[in-house]
Amino acid sequence: MVGTSELVLHPGTHVLHYGSACFEGLKAHRQPDGSVRTFRSRSHAERMYSSAERLMLPPPPIALFERMVSDSVAANADITPEPPGSLYIRPTLLGTEQNIGAAARASNTALFYILTSPVGQYFSGGSLRLAIETKLPRTTPQFGMVKTGANYAMALGVLKEAKDRYAADQVLFAPDGYVEETGAANFLVLADKTIVTPPLSDGYLHGVTRNTILTIAEELGFDVEERPLSVTELLELAEAPTTEIVLSGTAAIVAPVGTLIHEGAEHAVGGAETAERTTKIQKLVTSMQQGLSERPEGW
Ligand SMILES: *Cc1c(COP(=O)(O)O)cnc(C)c1O
Repeated sequence: MVGTSELVLHPGTHVLHYGSACFEGLKAHRQPDGSVRTFRSRSHAERMYSSAERLMLPPPPIALFERMVSDSVAANADITPEPPGSLYIRPTLLGTEQNIGAAARASNTALFYILTSPVGQYFSGGSLRLAIETKLPRTTPQFGMVKTGANYAMALGVLKEAKDRYAADQVLFAPDGYVEETGAANFLVLADKTIVTPPLSDGYLHGVTRNTILTIAEELGFDVEERPLSVTELLELAEAPTTEIVLSGTAAIVAPVGTLIHEGAEHAVGGAETAERTTKIQKLVTSMQQGLSERPEGW
């Protein structure tokens, strides 16, 4: 359905009580020939499929997801801004069984819809203040890789406290002293010519942007080390004048981190001022999205 519409849900709908919901976030960009093209929609389709499986929801078939996304993009092509703006696409899946007695079982039916919105450029180059949380986890181990609203709700209190106490912009979750991610973005250290980032695990969200950066790392002149990163090592790495730290996600691609706050102490990130390599990543990914540089097959 194109245009504004309201959802009408029975008050006993599964999602409203038992949290059976997940979503995706991707973008479509205007190309030099005037057409509008999505970036890596298959990877988002695959991630929603796996989120749905973990939530015991009927997963939208990959082909259906891709067709609905491309239909939404076509229907909204005329409101898609010129670069650096784009069309933000939010596929959403809800458990719709109308049975308040179904607390102990999955919803057998689901509603899958797509919300779109024209957006401007998020990347501002301004650097973030990140509070490191080593005690409370962002979510539970079995739901870390699921793009579900409950994970965000769980992080809200921790984020509020970090904002109030340290004027932090985000919280970096590092349960047991090992870095995972922030509330809504992945974490990468650009330690001179090496990207250091935690290995994929069920504990955190497998960002498509993270994967994009690692895939094109060589072209950008980086080596990649996917390995456990302790907070102790992170604070050491951050000191070097050649270290930059970024958060990655669809909204901004990369957002530079300027300050880490650990146990009340502030640690400035050595290379945050110039953010030279952060900008290089931003430029290459943006130009692939906008059809100005070649992108790998299937993106
Ligand atoms: C969506 C999301 C990300 C970023 O994923 P992208 O695919 O790069 O946009 C990272 N962490 C969390 C918790 C997320 O929900």
